[in-house]
Amino acid sequence: MTIHEALLEAQTALAKWAEANEAKLEAQLLMQYVLNVNRAWLIAHANDALPPDAHAGFESLLNRRLLGEPIAYILGYREFYGLNLKTTSDTLIPRPDTETLVEAVLAKTLPSQTGKILDLGTGTGAVALAIASNRIKAQVTAVDASQAALNVAVENAKNLNISNIHFMLSDWFVALENHEKFDVIVSNPPYIEQSDAHLTQGDLRFEPMSALASGEDGLDDIRKIIEDCLVYLKPQGWLMLEHGYNQAEQVADLMAQIGLTYIETIKDLGGNHRVTMGKNPLMVNTHWD
Ligand code: GLN
Repeated sequence: MTIHEALLEAQTALAKWAEANEAKLEAQLLMQYVLNVNRAWLIAHANDALPPDAHAGFESLLNRRLLGEPIAYILGYREFYGLNLKTTSDTLIPRPDTETLVEAVLAKTLPSQTGKILDLGTGTGAVALAIASNRIKAQVTAVDASQAALNVAVENAKNLNISNIHFMLSDWFVALENHEKFDVIVSNPPYIEQSDAHLTQGDLRFEPMSALASGEDGLDDIRKIIEDCLVYLKPQGWLMLEHGYNQAEQVADLMAQIGLTYIETIKDLGGNHRVTMGKNPLMVNTHWD
Protein backbone atom coordinates (compact mmCIF):
# COMPACT_ATOMS: atom_id res chain seq x y z
CA MET A 1 0.00 0.00 0.00
CA THR A 2 1.25 3.50 -0.77
CA ILE A 3 1.22 6.44 1.61
CA HIS A 4 -1.46 8.05 -0.53
CA GLU A 5 -3.70 4.97 -0.38
CA ALA A 6 -3.38 4.70 3.40
CA LEU A 7 -4.21 8.40 3.72
CA LEU A 8 -7.32 8.01 1.57
CA GLU A 9 -8.55 5.08 3.68
CA ALA A 10 -8.01 7.02 6.88
CA GLN A 11 -9.66 10.10 5.43
CA THR A 12 -12.77 8.09 4.57
CA ALA A 13 -12.94 6.64 8.09
CA LEU A 14 -12.44 10.06 9.72
CA ALA A 15 -14.94 11.77 7.41
CA LYS A 16 -17.76 9.86 9.09
CA TRP A 17 -17.69 12.41 11.88
CA ALA A 18 -15.30 15.19 10.85
CA GLU A 19 -15.59 17.76 8.07
CA ALA A 20 -13.99 16.48 4.85
CA ASN A 21 -11.11 18.99 4.86
CA GLU A 22 -10.49 18.36 8.56
CA ALA A 23 -10.43 14.57 7.95
CA LYS A 24 -7.79 15.01 5.28
CA LEU A 25 -5.66 17.27 7.46
CA GLU A 26 -5.91 14.95 10.47
CA ALA A 27 -4.97 11.90 8.40
CA GLN A 28 -1.93 13.80 7.11
CA LEU A 29 -0.92 14.95 10.60
CA LEU A 30 -1.07 11.39 11.95
CA MET A 31 0.98 10.10 9.00
CA GLN A 32 3.58 12.85 9.45
CA TYR A 33 3.83 11.88 13.09
CA VAL A 34 4.35 8.17 12.36
CA LEU A 35 6.91 8.79 9.61
CA ASN A 36 8.48 11.74 11.45
CA VAL A 37 8.36 13.90 8.33
CA ASN A 38 6.99 17.31 7.42
CA ARG A 39 4.08 18.11 5.17
CA ALA A 40 6.22 18.85 2.11
CA TRP A 41 7.93 15.45 2.39
CA LEU A 42 4.56 13.72 2.71
CA ILE A 43 3.21 15.33 -0.44
CA ALA A 44 6.39 14.64 -2.43
CA HIS A 45 6.45 10.97 -1.37
CA ALA A 46 2.73 10.20 -1.69
CA ASN A 47 3.39 7.29 -4.03
CA ASP A 48 6.09 5.63 -1.89
CA ALA A 49 5.21 2.28 -0.34
CA LEU A 50 4.23 2.55 3.33
CA PRO A 51 6.46 0.17 5.36
CA PRO A 52 4.38 -2.39 7.36
CA ASP A 53 5.53 -1.18 10.78
CA ALA A 54 4.66 2.42 9.89
CA HIS A 55 1.31 1.21 8.59
CA ALA A 56 0.61 -0.56 11.89
CA GLY A 57 1.61 2.56 13.84
CA PHE A 58 -0.62 4.70 11.65
CA GLU A 59 -3.59 2.36 12.14
CA SER A 60 -3.18 2.44 15.89
CA LEU A 61 -3.14 6.28 16.02
CA LEU A 62 -6.09 6.37 13.64
CA ASN A 63 -8.06 4.05 15.91
CA ARG A 64 -7.40 6.30 18.90
CA ARG A 65 -8.67 9.25 16.91
CA LEU A 66 -11.73 7.29 15.76
CA LEU A 67 -12.50 6.64 19.45
CA GLY A 68 -12.63 10.39 19.93
CA GLU A 69 -9.25 11.17 21.51
CA PRO A 70 -8.30 14.76 20.61
CA ILE A 71 -5.70 15.10 17.87
CA ALA A 72 -3.66 17.46 20.12
CA TYR A 73 -3.27 14.72 22.76
CA ILE A 74 -2.38 12.04 20.18
CA LEU A 75 0.26 14.23 18.54
CA GLY A 76 1.29 15.64 21.92
CA TYR A 77 1.38 19.24 20.78
CA ARG A 78 -0.81 22.14 19.65
CA GLU A 79 0.20 25.36 18.00
CA PHE A 80 -0.89 28.56 19.75
CA TYR A 81 0.02 32.12 18.76
CA GLY A 82 2.85 30.76 16.60
CA LEU A 83 4.28 28.67 19.47
CA ASN A 84 4.52 24.89 19.40
CA LEU A 85 3.23 23.73 22.76
CA LYS A 86 3.46 20.33 24.36
CA THR A 87 -0.13 19.38 25.24
CA THR A 88 -1.16 16.45 27.43
CA SER A 89 -4.40 15.22 28.98
CA ASP A 90 -3.36 17.11 32.15
CA THR A 91 -3.91 20.38 30.30
CA LEU A 92 -6.68 22.12 28.43
CA ILE A 93 -5.99 22.13 24.68
CA PRO A 94 -5.10 25.72 23.70
CA ARG A 95 -7.84 27.20 21.50
CA PRO A 96 -7.68 29.85 18.78
CA ASP A 97 -10.34 31.84 20.74
CA THR A 98 -7.81 32.37 23.50
CA GLU A 99 -5.48 34.22 21.13
CA THR A 100 -8.00 37.07 21.58
CA LEU A 101 -6.99 37.23 25.26
CA VAL A 102 -3.31 37.47 24.29
CA GLU A 103 -4.11 40.21 21.76
CA ALA A 104 -5.98 42.13 24.47
CA VAL A 105 -2.94 42.11 26.75
CA LEU A 106 -0.60 43.11 23.92
CA ALA A 107 -2.96 45.95 22.97
CA LYS A 108 -2.85 47.41 26.51
CA THR A 109 0.93 47.12 26.93
CA LEU A 110 3.90 48.42 24.97
CA PRO A 111 6.58 46.13 23.47
CA SER A 112 8.98 47.81 25.90
CA GLN A 113 6.63 47.11 28.83
CA THR A 114 8.47 46.31 32.03
CA GLY A 115 6.58 45.46 35.18
CA LYS A 116 4.63 42.40 36.14
CA ILE A 117 1.97 40.26 34.51
CA LEU A 118 0.10 37.41 36.21
CA ASP A 119 -1.50 34.48 34.35
CA LEU A 120 -3.96 32.51 36.49
CA GLY A 121 -4.57 28.86 35.54
CA THR A 122 -1.83 28.68 32.95
CA GLY A 123 -2.34 25.04 31.81
CA THR A 124 0.11 24.41 28.95
CA GLY A 125 1.44 27.92 29.61
CA ALA A 126 -0.11 29.09 26.32
CA VAL A 127 -1.21 32.58 27.42
CA ALA A 128 1.83 33.27 29.62
CA LEU A 129 4.28 32.10 26.94
CA ALA A 130 2.63 34.09 24.16
CA ILE A 131 2.71 37.23 26.31
CA ALA A 132 6.23 36.68 27.69
CA SER A 133 7.68 36.11 24.22
CA ASN A 134 6.14 39.39 23.00
CA ARG A 135 6.87 41.44 26.14
CA ILE A 136 10.40 40.33 26.81
CA LYS A 137 11.10 43.04 29.42
CA ALA A 138 8.05 42.15 31.49
CA GLN A 139 8.22 39.63 34.32
CA VAL A 140 5.40 37.09 33.98
CA THR A 141 4.15 34.95 36.86
CA ALA A 142 2.13 31.91 35.78
CA VAL A 143 0.23 29.81 38.30
CA ASP A 144 -1.83 26.64 38.14
CA ALA A 145 -3.50 24.51 40.83
CA SER A 146 -2.37 21.34 39.03
CA GLN A 147 1.27 20.29 39.45
CA ALA A 148 0.92 18.02 36.39
CA ALA A 149 -0.20 20.95 34.24
CA LEU A 150 2.54 23.15 35.66
CA ASN A 151 5.16 20.55 34.70
CA VAL A 152 3.96 20.78 31.09
CA ALA A 153 4.08 24.59 31.18
CA VAL A 154 7.63 24.58 32.58
CA GLU A 155 8.72 22.17 29.87
CA ASN A 156 7.16 24.38 27.20
CA ALA A 157 9.01 27.45 28.51
CA LYS A 158 12.26 25.50 28.44
CA ASN A 159 11.70 24.15 24.92
CA LEU A 160 10.87 27.64 23.65
CA ASN A 161 13.74 29.28 25.53
CA ILE A 162 11.41 31.73 27.24
CA SER A 163 12.90 32.71 30.56
CA ASN A 164 10.89 35.72 31.79
CA ILE A 165 8.22 33.54 33.40
CA HIS A 166 8.13 32.39 37.00
CA PHE A 167 5.90 29.30 37.46
CA MET A 168 4.13 28.61 40.74
CA LEU A 169 1.75 26.03 42.13
CA SER A 170 -1.25 28.04 43.31
CA ASP A 171 -5.03 27.81 43.46
CA TRP A 172 -5.71 31.23 41.87
CA PHE A 173 -4.08 33.85 44.18
CA VAL A 174 -3.64 31.61 47.23
CA ALA A 175 0.14 31.09 47.08
CA LEU A 176 0.98 34.70 46.16
CA GLU A 177 2.34 37.13 48.71
CA ASN A 178 -0.24 39.77 49.66
CA HIS A 179 2.09 42.61 48.81
CA GLU A 180 2.81 41.31 45.33
CA LYS A 181 1.09 43.57 42.76
CA PHE A 182 0.72 43.23 39.00
CA ASP A 183 0.21 45.62 36.10
CA VAL A 184 -1.95 43.06 34.31
CA ILE A 185 -3.79 40.02 35.64
CA VAL A 186 -5.00 37.71 32.92
CA SER A 187 -6.87 34.41 32.98
CA ASN A 188 -8.64 31.86 30.85
CA PRO A 189 -10.40 30.13 33.74
CA PRO A 190 -12.93 27.30 33.53
CA TYR A 191 -16.29 28.87 32.64
CA ILE A 192 -18.61 26.20 31.26
CA GLU A 193 -21.89 25.49 33.09
CA GLN A 194 -21.51 22.14 34.87
CA SER A 195 -24.64 20.77 33.19
CA ASP A 196 -23.61 21.85 29.66
CA ALA A 197 -24.00 18.92 27.24
CA HIS A 198 -20.78 19.92 25.42
CA LEU A 199 -18.78 18.56 28.36
CA THR A 200 -19.75 15.03 27.32
CA GLN A 201 -19.06 15.57 23.61
CA GLY A 202 -16.04 15.72 21.31
CA ASP A 203 -12.60 16.76 22.58
CA LEU A 204 -14.00 18.09 25.87
CA ARG A 205 -14.66 14.53 27.15
CA PHE A 206 -10.88 14.00 27.28
CA GLU A 207 -9.87 17.34 28.80
CA PRO A 208 -9.46 17.99 32.56
CA MET A 209 -12.91 18.84 33.94
CA SER A 210 -11.28 21.24 36.41
CA ALA A 211 -10.10 23.36 33.47
CA LEU A 212 -13.53 23.46 31.82
CA ALA A 213 -16.51 23.53 34.18
CA SER A 214 -17.18 26.03 36.96
CA GLY A 215 -20.41 25.52 38.89
CA GLU A 216 -24.03 25.93 37.93
CA ASP A 217 -23.71 29.11 35.87
CA GLY A 218 -20.06 28.56 34.88
CA LEU A 219 -19.03 31.68 36.81
CA ASP A 220 -17.79 30.27 40.13
CA ASP A 221 -14.11 30.73 39.33
CA ILE A 222 -14.59 34.05 37.54
CA ARG A 223 -16.39 35.35 40.67
CA LYS A 224 -13.49 34.22 42.89
CA ILE A 225 -10.89 35.85 40.67
CA ILE A 226 -12.79 39.14 40.46
CA GLU A 227 -13.48 39.21 44.22
CA ASP A 228 -9.79 38.88 45.10
CA CYS A 229 -8.08 40.70 42.24
CA LEU A 230 -7.84 44.19 43.78
CA VAL A 231 -5.38 42.98 46.41
CA TYR A 232 -2.98 42.02 43.62
CA LEU A 233 -3.68 44.69 41.01
CA LYS A 234 -1.51 47.80 40.84
CA PRO A 235 -3.23 51.18 40.64
CA GLN A 236 -4.29 51.57 36.98
CA GLY A 237 -3.65 47.85 36.43
CA TRP A 238 -5.88 45.76 34.14
CA LEU A 239 -7.83 42.58 34.85
CA MET A 240 -8.56 40.66 31.63
CA LEU A 241 -10.71 37.53 31.57
CA GLU A 242 -11.78 35.07 28.92
CA HIS A 243 -15.38 33.86 29.31
CA GLY A 244 -18.24 32.09 27.54
CA TYR A 245 -19.99 33.69 24.56
CA ASN A 246 -23.05 34.52 26.72
CA GLN A 247 -21.29 35.69 29.90
CA ALA A 248 -19.97 39.15 28.91
CA GLU A 249 -22.71 41.10 30.67
CA GLN A 250 -22.40 39.16 33.93
CA VAL A 251 -18.61 39.43 33.93
CA ALA A 252 -18.81 43.17 33.23
CA ASP A 253 -21.31 43.56 36.11
CA LEU A 254 -19.04 41.67 38.50
CA MET A 255 -16.12 43.90 37.50
CA ALA A 256 -18.24 47.03 37.96
CA GLN A 257 -19.34 45.84 41.42
CA ILE A 258 -15.76 45.87 42.72
CA GLY A 259 -15.20 49.29 41.17
CA LEU A 260 -13.18 48.49 38.05
CA THR A 261 -13.49 51.16 35.35
CA TYR A 262 -13.10 51.41 31.57
CA ILE A 263 -14.86 48.03 31.35
CA GLU A 264 -14.83 46.72 27.81
CA THR A 265 -15.66 43.43 26.04
CA ILE A 266 -14.02 42.25 22.84
CA LYS A 267 -15.02 39.55 20.37
CA ASP A 268 -13.06 36.53 19.18
CA LEU A 269 -12.50 35.70 15.50
CA GLY A 270 -15.80 33.81 15.48
CA GLY A 271 -17.62 37.02 16.43
CA ASN A 272 -18.46 35.88 19.99
CA HIS A 273 -17.98 38.09 23.05
CA ARG A 274 -14.94 36.39 24.52
CA VAL A 275 -12.81 38.71 26.67
CA THR A 276 -13.88 41.35 29.18
CA MET A 277 -11.46 43.71 30.90
CA GLY A 278 -11.53 46.39 33.54
CA LYS A 279 -9.06 48.81 35.07
CA ASN A 280 -8.23 49.44 38.71
CA PRO A 281 -9.31 53.09 39.17
CA LEU A 282 -6.87 53.83 41.99
CA MET A 283 -4.22 56.41 41.14
CA VAL A 284 -0.68 56.10 42.35
CA ASN A 285 -0.38 58.51 45.27
CA THR A 286 2.80 60.32 44.28
CA HIS A 287 2.76 62.24 47.57
CA TRP A 288 3.74 59.08 49.39
CA ASP A 289 6.23 57.79 46.83
N1 GLN B 1 -13.66 27.84 25.28
C1 GLN B 1 -13.65 26.48 25.72
C2 GLN B 1 -14.84 25.74 25.17
O1 GLN B 1 -15.94 26.22 25.23
C3 GLN B 1 -13.66 26.38 27.22
C4 GLN B 1 -12.38 26.79 27.81
C5 GLN B 1 -12.53 27.23 29.21
O2 GLN B 1 -13.42 26.80 29.96
N2 GLN B 1 -11.69 28.10 29.62
O3 GLN B 1 -14.66 24.66 24.65
